[in-house]
Amino acid sequence: MYTFEKMNVRWGSSLTHERKIILNIHLIIVQKHCIDYVVLHELLHLKYPDHDYHFFNQPHMSDWRNESGFWMKKW
Ligand SMILES: [Zn+2]
Repeated sequence: MYTFEKMNVRWGSSLTHERKIILNIHLIIVQKHCIDYVVLHELLHLKYPDHDYHFFNQPHMSDWRNESGFWMKKW
């Protein structure tokens, strides 16, 4: 399940126990590949709560330092 909310400091959030992700409604202004990054990031948190080796070692997160990740951190 997912929902959209106005968030001031985060692009998304995961509620692991509720199996729910919350996405920032302001994602509507960013490029599609950035939205994909946030959705993947938050979905991964449902399995890996922390930003640890296992989280970033997933195949689709191997390029987390790519343009999407860089751009999203600067916003
Ligand atoms: Zn995270």
